[in-house]
Amino acid sequence: MKRKLRMGMVGGGNDAFIGAVHRIAAFMDGKIELVCGAFSIDPQISKQSGEDLFVAPERVYLNYEEMIEKESLLPEGERMDFVTIVTPNFLHFAPAKLAMEKGFDVVVEKPMTVSVEEAKELQATVERTGRTLCLTHTYSGYPMVKQAKAMIKEGHFGKIRKIVVEYPQGWLSRLTEREGNAGAAWRADPKRSGKSLVMGDIGTHAAHLAEYVSGLKIQELCADLTTFVEGRLLDDDGSVLLRFENGAKGVLMASQISAGEENAVRIRIYGEKGGLEWANEDPNNLIIKMLDQPRQLYRTGNAYAAPYTLSSFATHNTRVPAGHPEGLLESFANIYRNFASTVTAKREGRTPTPEEQDFPTVYDGVRGMAFIDTVVKNNEGTEKWTKFVV
Ligand code: NAD
Repeated sequence: MKRKLRMGMVGGGNDAFIGAVHRIAAFMDGKIELVCGAFSIDPQISKQSGEDLFVAPERVYLNYEEMIEKESLLPEGERMDFVTIVTPNFLHFAPAKLAMEKGFDVVVEKPMTVSVEEAKELQATVERTGRTLCLTHTYSGYPMVKQAKAMIKEGHFGKIRKIVVEYPQGWLSRLTEREGNAGAAWRADPKRSGKSLVMGDIGTHAAHLAEYVSGLKIQELCADLTTFVEGRLLDDDGSVLLRFENGAKGVLMASQISAGEENAVRIRIYGEKGGLEWANEDPNNLIIKMLDQPRQLYRTGNAYAAPYTLSSFATHNTRVPAGHPEGLLESFANIYRNFASTVTAKREGRTPTPEEQDFPTVYDGVRGMAFIDTVVKNNEGTEKWTKFVV
């Protein structure tokens, strides 16, 4: 395929937060162009957003139904190839399903849906239609996260025993949802957000990161959710004990009332021979701590000699020479580039490489929704441990 992939957007207008980040990420590698959108719940904002983004006026649609329907009727050489869905959580499922049924691939924000049932229906739709669905678990796109995963996979630390993952934020320390913050308002509304605020908004990122880096699946958990801010309708803080499939134990903390914190995602994993540490606020560093050895610091973009050579997954997702900071936007762009390469490979009848296929999918989305469900169920019930069933 000798052309860019054509992207349509649902949400992401001038009234939105993450949509603009998606566009930066999608455009970074020159493989994707924006051709259409239903950019906002407000048609006027959608129209203005389309104008600002230089989208042809006839391809700025009133709603996602019209967009998907009309785009599907355009000639092959013009119509969009995939839809990016960046609406509040309750508005992910319907456009994702409709898009795949009309022959489009999908990039969708997390949490993938608002229920396990919806998530499983999307999985069934992917399997039936053969479409590609990419879920934007942002933190899995960093080169040093991929290096951590590769080192665990090759047995560098021995059998994994302990996984500690944290995602503290402070921005919901007050009743932000009543202060005119639209993003906080829908997040704190059970009808638009889902069963859990903190686990849907950031806990699923942490759970995905733990499973992605360790290569181990959560099997059982024990959870404690709290609503600290008076008047809030959903939880804003959670601690979860985790049991993984190989006997490893874990701790997950997700909190939006950790006053003063920004996006302090951090993961530490320990095996029999040593451990690692990675943090979103210092993403080009991977700290390696081996028993009886001085600490080592692996840095993005270095051509280390064996046995320290960075994995092909880390180098594939690195853009600039060592020492030049790469961050969230590049990590996000890695997810888009790998998705675009996979979609293109499938269209060309080629099997995508493992590096190209390295992005979160519908199966991660189903696990994310099962995670939220299991946490809420355990928190509300009386049993000590609840099995994580997908
Ligand atoms: P937001 O409230 O800032 O923006 C939502 C956008 O969706 C707005 O443009 C709104 O007008 C539009 N919208 C709502 N209903 C619509 C409809 N029916 N049709 C078309 N557009 C519609 O929200 P946000 O912070 O950008 O979050 C959007 C999604 O992205 C959420 O699911 C959130 O969890 C996720 N998110 C993910 C990350 C990440 O790190 N991956 C970060 C932030 C947000």
